[in-house]
Order: sequence, then C-alpha cells, then structure tokens
Amino acid sequence: MTTQKFSDLKLIEPLQLAITETGYTHPTPIQLAAIPKLLEGRDLLGVAQTGTGKTAAFALPILQRLVLNPKKVESRHARVLILTPTRELAVQIHESFQTYGKNLNLKSTVVFGGVSQFHQVKSMTAGVDVLVATPGRLMDLIQQRMINLRSLEVFVLDEADRMLDMGFINDIKKIIKLLPVKRHSLFFSATMPPDIQKLASGLLTDPVRVEVTPVSSTAEKIQQSVLFVEKKNKKDLLRHVLKDNSLKRVIVFTRTKHGANQVSEVLEKNGIFSAAIHGNKSQGARQRALDSFKKGTIRVLVATDIAARGIDVDGITHVINFELPNIAESYVHRIGRTARAGAEGIAISFCDQEEKAYLKDIQKLTGQLIPVETSHPYHSENVVNAQTLSKGKAKALIDSRLGGNKGGQRNNRRRRFNKPKSKTLG
Ligand code: AMP
Repeated sequence: MTTQKFSDLKLIEPLQLAITETGYTHPTPIQLAAIPKLLEGRDLLGVAQTGTGKTAAFALPILQRLVLNPKKVESRHARVLILTPTRELAVQIHESFQTYGKNLNLKSTVVFGGVSQFHQVKSMTAGVDVLVATPGRLMDLIQQRMINLRSLEVFVLDEADRMLDMGFINDIKKIIKLLPVKRHSLFFSATMPPDIQKLASGLLTDPVRVEVTPVSSTAEKIQQSVLFVEKKNKKDLLRHVLKDNSLKRVIVFTRTKHGANQVSEVLEKNGIFSAAIHGNKSQGARQRALDSFKKGTIRVLVATDIAARGIDVDGITHVINFELPNIAESYVHRIGRTARAGAEGIAISFCDQEEKAYLKDIQKLTGQLIPVETSHPYHSENVVNAQTLSKGKAKALIDSRLGGNKGGQRNNRRRRFNKPKSKTLG
C-alpha cells in the first residue's frame, strides 16, 4: 500500500464516495500509476495480474470519462468494451463496475457463453455504457447483429496472455478489426512474451507502460511450505491438514477436472463442505459454488487453474496445492488467491515423487526455496530422496498414469506417450 490517498487522485465526488463505501483507504500501486494517466486519456499497457487492484485502476477513470462526456447510446451499441477470458472474471469485472459506479446513472451489462443468450440480447436492446464480455459469445452476438461496436470509445483487453493460452486469438483479432480506429485502448497481461508484445503494439497508440508485482515476486508475503508425500497418501494428508480449524476458507488446486471432482467427493464424504469448480461445470453450478464459498457455507473450493484464475474472493486463508502445477507461473497465480490486496496468506503444497521436477521449476522462477514441513503423519523420506526427473519425463509419466482413467482421452494420451518409444525401437 502507499501513503497517497484516493482523495489525492482527481476522481469526481460520486466515485470517491463509492470508494469510501467499499472500504478502500489507499490506492494500490497500479491504481496510483494508472489512474492519472488514464484520466488524461493516454493508452495503457498494464503488466499486472489479478490481485493487484487492476480492475479499479481501469474502471474508475473509465466511469469518470463516461459521466463527464455524456452521450446517448444507440440500440445495441456500447461506449466501453472490456474483453476478458473467463465467465467468472467477466462477472466480477461487471460487479466492480456496478460497485464503483453505484452513484452514477450509467448502464452496464455482461455477456458470456454457456448460458442462454436471451437476457444478454435483451440487455443490449437499448444500448449500454459498459459492456463486459468473453470473446466467443461476443463474436456470436456480433455476427447475429445483436451487438454493434461501431461507436465504441474505450476498449480494454484484459488478461491477454490467458486469452492466447485459451485459444481466443482469432476471435480477438476479428473483434479488434471491428473497433473504430479512434478510440482509447487499455491492455493488461500478467506476462509479456513476444507474441503478446506484438498484439499490444498493434492495438495501442503511444501507451504508458505500468508494471506491478512481477509474477515471480507475488509470493513474498505468503507463508509457503511443501509437504513431501506419496501420491496414494495425498487424500489422507488433505483430510489431516483440514482438521486444523484455522483453515477457514481454503482453495484446493488440482491439475485436472477429474482430480477436482474426486477430491471434492472425498471431502464431502468426510463431512467437509466443499465444491468443485472447473470448465466442465455449467455456468450456474460454478456461480453457485462461488457464491456459497463467498458466503462461507462451503469451506473448501476445489479448482483447476483456468477456473480459478481471477477468482475474487476476499479472506481466503489458505491455498493448498493438492497437485503442483506443471507450469511454474501457475503456482504464483494459485498462491496469489490468498494474500489479496495486501493481506497475508498461507500456501501449502503437496509434492510427490514425480512432481519434484515441477517444484524445482517453481523454486527457480520465484528464486525462493520453499521450506519443507515434515511434521505430519504422511511425510515420505522416499519422496525426499527420490531422484528429480527432468520436467519432460515427469510430465510424460504423469500423463501416462492419467491414461489409466476412464474417458476418451485415454487412448490419445497413451498413443502420444508411446510414440517416442516405437521410434527408438523402429
Ligand atoms: P483485482 O486485481 O482488480 O482483481 O483486485 C483484487 C482485490 O483487491 C479485489 O478484491 C478488490 O476488491 C481489492 N482492491 C482493489 N483496490 C483496492 C484498494 N485500493 N484497497 C484495498 N483493496 C482493493
């Protein structure tokens, strides 16, 4: 947090009031850096992830611009578009606009896939000031002529790196082509590899670059530990860890949807209220799980990486990595779910023999050695002493084991795994 106050920023009274009511006292670094530049109308390249306060950093100046330059919107048009990769993020960003804009007379709506388009189409009939959307459904509605972007004034591309990971690049390119050339553009991404850099430079004009909490340093205010355990004992270890009541609001991460369901079932069987949240769940089921978690009726949310990205729930006391992620950056994103906006948090990681390669990668990225916790009944010296495989070998091994599960992916996985073998033989 900073010593500067929100009242130091040139935000209009109704916005200041909403901020006070929300309970924020000091702007976060990204808000401090971005808000003045956005109020000047500059394009922005934000290198920041969720948890930094970036939504308010763009929402507040956008809302101010809209009220200070009132304009009538035509039917099916929008003045501002925020494009974001997941349904959960879209809902959360929309809620933020409603919270910060509560004292303003502006209209906003959110569109995303996986649900009927009926209400979304209806909410666009009279036009809106702010439209929050995921790329697939937005493209659909544009093609049906239910949404028109010709009079757009502000475009925000959120979580660009995740968009590309999720395969939205073509939709995004098509959407960008439909935008007016003269517009105010904002671009956010947690990482800036060359393809993202290229996308940003095609979109922005003379942008201000604001960079906060690089992905590898978020981990610092989080108390981390790693528990070495045999794979077969992980569920028992989880039950053991959850006996401690100080684990009040917990996210448990698994690598696969199947794994998330299994873990959630085990917890339920043991009387621990939980729900799984992942891409195979209907939008309704995901939202219900998230709402119960926010309200505290369920204690444990079991999630996969994509589903959890951007989950904006305050007061998460613990993150448990039931399985370590094979992408080191995901570790930082995962544990960042606790310790939001300055709070402190605890991250506990289970590591089996094959995952030692992932652990090594994570420690390399964060530049920290994660302390090993041995005082639990499932501590395994076998795992401690096991040789660390190369990341490729570990992944192949884990994928081949996954092949033992039911479902159509089995044969593909097995085939892929066997390929190199037949090559060497043949
Ligand atoms: P975001 O990075 O936009 O997902 O925001 C992360 C979390 O920080 C959300 O729960 C916000 O409500 C909260 N937040 C945003 N700005 C502030 C602030 N200035 N002070 C305290 N919390 C904030």
